Amino acid sequence: MGQLIAGIDIGGTKIAGGLVNHKGRLVGGTLTVPTRAGEGIKTSYGQVLRVIERLLRQAGGKNELSGIGLCAPGPVNPRTGMVLNPPNLPGWINLPLARKIEDRFRLPTKVENDANAAGLAEAVFGAAVGYRHVFYVTVSTGIGTGIIINRKVYHGKNGVAGEGGHVSIDYRSHYRCGCGTLGCIEALAAGPGMARRARVFLEQDHAAASLLRDMCGGHLSRIHPQMIEEARAKGDPVAKAIVDESGFYLGVWLAGMITLLDPEAIVIGGGVSRIGKPLFDKIRETIPKYTINREFAAKTPILPAKLQRNVGVLGAAALLLPAGELAEEW
Ligand SMILES: [Zn+2]
Repeated sequence: MGQLIAGIDIGGTKIAGGLVNHKGRLVGGTLTVPTRAGEGIKTSYGQVLRVIERLLRQAGGKNELSGIGLCAPGPVNPRTGMVLNPPNLPGWINLPLARKIEDRFRLPTKVENDANAAGLAEAVFGAAVGYRHVFYVTVSTGIGTGIIINRKVYHGKNGVAGEGGHVSIDYRSHYRCGCGTLGCIEALAAGPGMARRARVFLEQDHAAASLLRDMCGGHLSRIHPQMIEEARAKGDPVAKAIVDESGFYLGVWLAGMITLLDPEAIVIGGGVSRIGKPLFDKIRETIPKYTINREFAAKTPILPAKLQRNVGVLGAAALLLPAGELAEEW
């Protein structure tokens, strides 16, 4: 049995793979190919096989590997290794991914949803090294979360626990989430939610001066999160209010997560988290106001994610690391 693990991050836009050693270090960089998702499962699944084959060659043969870890967009059942029906991978319906890969390559194989894998990676060798109980959040086009307890992913009864992005903080909200619920934190604070709030604000208050009006060329629907951050950095009051509001929403929501889980640390990653200090400051300021154990909550470290671009590959590989083995216990 070899010492390297093949980590594969299957996404709707790209498939990335890398060889990872047992210390969680990438050996020889990562391979990335754009996912030909629109061409259906035969093509996109074939791409995954090609990436694994290239990694096997790079490793010098399958005897150098101890296993293959894969992460894919949810819904995924990590217990059965099934990919259920991710919206951005057309045709991937009830695919027994772990079994198919294991049968083909004759190596131990594990499958996890991408947010759980990322959370495990951050806990095992990223921002939260040294902590056993970690709540992980990624804020980008959606909000994904992972609950890591004792350095294991918490899966719940059906393997679908940890969908924190779909916890509502406002049942009267005008914003309906993609999941059908009103006021999910994802609908309010993920990138598209931020852009929508900025657009609605500027539509409703025609007198409000904002750099965003020029930046989007008068087309408010073109506002995107990076534009908001750029305007905020230039001192734009509307953009600042939108970022503050996001920090407030995330703070209220994370206060609830802290009340429930009492984690040792919270790790926040994803594109929106790159706003950095202004967002994190607002989150930290808000949390103690919305939880019962204010003193403990105020001391919970709120850490920026460390692994960023390779988090999926490292998280997939972490499923096969000794600590990752524990992560599969139920
Ligand atoms: Zn939702």
